[in-house]
Amino acid sequence: RPTNAEGVIDLINRHGVQIVDLKFTDLPGLWQHFSITLPEVSESLFQNGIGFDGSSIRGFQEIHESDMLLVPDATTAFVDPVCATPTVAIICDVVDPVTHEPYSRDPRYIAKKAERYLRETGLATTCYFGPEVEFFIFDSIRFGQDAHSGYYFVDSSEGEWNTGSDEGAYGGGNLGYQMRYKEGYFPVPPHDTLQDIRSEIVLMLQSIGVQVEVHHHEVATGGQNEIDMRFSTLTRMADNVMLYKYICKNVARKHGKVATFMPKPLFADNASGMHCHQSLWQEERNLFYDASGWALTSDVCRWYIGGLLHHAGALMAFCAPSTNSYKRLVPGYEAPVNLAMSQRNRSAAARIPMYSDSPSARRVEFRCPDPSANAYLAFAAMLMAGLDGIEQKLDPGEPLDRNIYDLPPEEAAAVRQVPASLDAALAALESDHAFLCKGGVFTDDVITTWLEYKRKREIDAVKLRPHPWEFHLYFDV
Ligand code: GLN
Ligand code: MG
Ligand code: MG
Ligand code: MG
Repeated sequence: RPTNAEGVIDLINRHGVQIVDLKFTDLPGLWQHFSITLPEVSESLFQNGIGFDGSSIRGFQEIHESDMLLVPDATTAFVDPVCATPTVAIICDVVDPVTHEPYSRDPRYIAKKAERYLRETGLATTCYFGPEVEFFIFDSIRFGQDAHSGYYFVDSSEGEWNTGSDEGAYGGGNLGYQMRYKEGYFPVPPHDTLQDIRSEIVLMLQSIGVQVEVHHHEVATGGQNEIDMRFSTLTRMADNVMLYKYICKNVARKHGKVATFMPKPLFADNASGMHCHQSLWQEERNLFYDASGWALTSDVCRWYIGGLLHHAGALMAFCAPSTNSYKRLVPGYEAPVNLAMSQRNRSAAARIPMYSDSPSARRVEFRCPDPSANAYLAFAAMLMAGLDGIEQKLDPGEPLDRNIYDLPPEEAAAVRQVPASLDAALAALESDHAFLCKGGVFTDDVITTWLEYKRKREIDAVKLRPHPWEFHLYFDV
């Protein structure tokens, strides 16, 4: 990747590129883009930017103040492997043309401010994020209803999905190399039909500078996947999540399939999470490690977890920000429901992975987020919650290392749970967001805009529509 404008121009020349594509993220978290020709590319583009209409972008400007600027970040430039025409793509920052200030609703700016705030606190120099982004690849999204059981199904790459039990609609017969129910983790081909597609995604990601460590099929029966990128700093990692979704969707499409990051596309099967591994470092020293602490963690690490758990309700408004997210956060599918920390318990929101005892590997895995999140906002919000935890020395409570179902009822009842709906998460954000607004990282305007956007465009929109299952329940009343 280039380091400055000159480097980008050099990249353009070396690859005989005629088109430069400018990409940025809207407030809900989808990439947007437009392309420019070579005469428009100069040193000045990287300083002064180029205009676009901000009023047509979700969550951005009002119509009466719609002119906005995009300023490309030269360090993100890459030769876009999705485009047949040689094209250099650059991730951009959004700038207000009147004040020349970065735009307060630009998610990438919020991520950068969170990193700046971290350094200002003096608590650490760097925070690393390593998200495990899960997703489904389907042959097509075609919903149907099983005539026999009444269950809904989605056509998946393994054929029609069975209906939520070992027997399914097939009566336990020969599955013809289909994954067995909840056994997608992780038989070899021919059961795993997506090996080559994942490998192709991985190689494409690596060709544009995104390091990948592992890829595999995930637990769900119908084509669920995970590709793990190497951890990086907050904004850089959020950039990488955008690249990841872009490459996954486009490689799937090339093969006549569709990749979806919707958290829970299949009823009664595992959903897609975006577990986020995170740690704070002072230069080369991992501040989360302490050889004498519980699970080799430091006080700082446990206070950070305390912050995540204490603010979890509000955090979910950014980390699990869709109505569909709450169909994932239920017991029985390895998604977290309990706001507690643990070494191994996958029903706990915060887990300390114990695969390695090396100081540099010490980190918290926060399991609540899912891939419907805008990574810039979700990472920034988690960092702010963790920092608030450190500043206030928030106690994460006793580790929940036993199976919660084995706890005495009083103890089990005392464990707080994740919000049950997007409504509840937004209400939590409304009453608890001072921690996000410290250092001007999130502004009141961003919080209000988010609440209004999610309530009007998503919650109300879903609420107003008759649900397919209502026909099952009520059509013949
Ligand atoms: N898919 C599960 C989730 O929703 C996680 C499964 C796993 O990676 N162990 O969080
Ligand atoms: Mg994983
Ligand atoms: Mg996983
Ligand atoms: Mg995990």
